Amino acid sequence: MSRTRVFPREARSILTRTGGFLHGFTHTLQPYVGCEFSCSYCYVREMPVQKLNPYRLPWSDWISPKRNAVELLERAAERGKLDRARIFCSSSTDPYTPLERSLELTRGCLAVMGSHPPEALVLQTRSPLVTRDRELIARIPSVVVSVTIPTDDESVRRHFEPNSPSLAKRIETLAILRAAGIRTQAAVSPLLPCDPERLAEQLDAVADRVVIDDFFRGDGAGGRRSRAAIRQLRELGFERWSRPGYADAAVEIFRSRLGPGRVGISEQGFNDTGWLRQGPVRAEDASVREG
Ligand code: SF4
Repeated sequence: MSRTRVFPREARSILTRTGGFLHGFTHTLQPYVGCEFSCSYCYVREMPVQKLNPYRLPWSDWISPKRNAVELLERAAERGKLDRARIFCSSSTDPYTPLERSLELTRGCLAVMGSHPPEALVLQTRSPLVTRDRELIARIPSVVVSVTIPTDDESVRRHFEPNSPSLAKRIETLAILRAAGIRTQAAVSPLLPCDPERLAEQLDAVADRVVIDDFFRGDGAGGRRSRAAIRQLRELGFERWSRPGYADAAVEIFRSRLGPGRVGISEQGFNDTGWLRQGPVRAEDASVREG
């Protein structure tokens, strides 16, 4: 049974203006505050949402669903706020945190966006639960589902994300979404110790595009918010994966396997929403796009 305590809240707003790392988006959308997955490298642990949490509980021991999330989004949609919005859902929680199975807040928000489509929507998750909503997602014109797959090694995954779904399930999730006609992205973020050739081969088959990030570029603080995870890498004997530039060799392997047009890097890669409006990028036409 989950030890996470649930603190429902009435939120004042559901769309938050972006800045900083997610500058390619106009808003983030977080149906939940807090997250049940408890990844050891989660940079949100070091942010005010955790440091100032009123429950005084460790990260992932609490979650606060915004019970009026759908209503708030409906109101925003009626005021035309979605028409020009480029939305990242979510940056400090997972929209398919296990509680979503029963609360359906993300699902409700997707239904609103089906009737009032934003200019672009990225759904960022690590949960196969997202496939439950594939029919709703497929109704939104400029959408991509981005699934976090930071390694191909299940033992590494268990060290850093003990409460998260298996890697095999995530690969299967991308395949199901793609078969449903939904654009897919694999977020290799943060890159963890892996066999990059094998991971690139696995993702080539199921992701239209891949974004690779590392602990130094991706935490928005030059690695300072990732200090605990970097220490964990060293304690586990992954010294060479704990230094700046450790992702460079993997990036080259991915580019050579998928083609540069299908591989985004860190901040620039996450903020490139232009490809959403160009139609799916398939393996067979990637070489044409590169030229
Ligand atoms: S799923 Fe995302 S928000 Fe949740 S703990 Fe993991 S990294 Fe943090």
